[in-house]
Amino acid sequence: MSRTVYVNGNWYPEEDARVSVFDRGFLMADGVYEVTSVLDSGLIDFQRHCKRLARSLSELDIPNPHTMEEWTALHEEIRRRNGLTEGLIYLQVTRGAEDRDFAWSDDLVPTVVLFTQAKGLLDNPAAQRGLTIKTIDDLRWLRRDIKTVQLLYPSMGKMMARQAGADDAWMVEEGLVTEGTSNNAYIIKSEKIITRQLSPRILPGITRLAVLALADETGMSVEERPFSVAEAQAADEAFLTSATAFVMPVVEIDGVKIGSGTPGPLVNRLRALYIERARQHGVES
Ligand code: PMP
Repeated sequence: MSRTVYVNGNWYPEEDARVSVFDRGFLMADGVYEVTSVLDSGLIDFQRHCKRLARSLSELDIPNPHTMEEWTALHEEIRRRNGLTEGLIYLQVTRGAEDRDFAWSDDLVPTVVLFTQAKGLLDNPAAQRGLTIKTIDDLRWLRRDIKTVQLLYPSMGKMMARQAGADDAWMVEEGLVTEGTSNNAYIIKSEKIITRQLSPRILPGITRLAVLALADETGMSVEERPFSVAEAQAADEAFLTSATAFVMPVVEIDGVKIGSGTPGPLVNRLRALYIERARQHGVES
């Protein structure tokens, strides 16, 4: 069945949804996005996604076309129109369209697109198996804290992982892991969670925020610092987080098994806790 897609104030069957070929999102990757999960027909941690969207736009001097209330209403409406009970809502805002030039005009009207993707998020077989990871150099620009649509390198990273027979890639800079292609990276050693501190080098994950708060609540200690690939390979457990993967165990890095080579008990517990919180309260704590 055809989805209903939102473009600049109007609702279209997906076949009829269009943006200009002069849109700077298309020509220059001049835009930002958010991905919000839907579980049991409810939006997960939407306010935080909305705040990060506002920050991404402001860092790029793109006017925010909507208030938090309007963004929420649009998300609720697209969810309802598509009967989405589990999956994700994708939102993209670009600077807008004008004749191609590197410099832009100040009066551009941002382009807004929303669409849904129905997807089983809870019953993910990868959560039972755990993921295998390949490490690759982090060749992205240095404003990774802004959630831009410049996703070519992370896409290449996924393909490099796939070609090497791995599920995903973690990126490494100066010998230290930054983050995954589309997720934040963690290890656990002696019951302590270690993950890189926030900086322009990584995206401030919404799931990261929630999971670190949950870990804190349950008395697990957290250390925010970078770790090397060798340290990760010698860890007891490893995992990644993202809005759609939640907490996902990592069982192998560059061919080296982590701990027993199966999803570890603390990661399994964090995943269960996160899912429970998401289903009961839409997260935020
Ligand atoms: N880092 C990167 C590079 C990402 O693309 C994502 C997912 N968008 C994340 C981390 C995780 O962020 P979130 O928990 O907000 O999905």
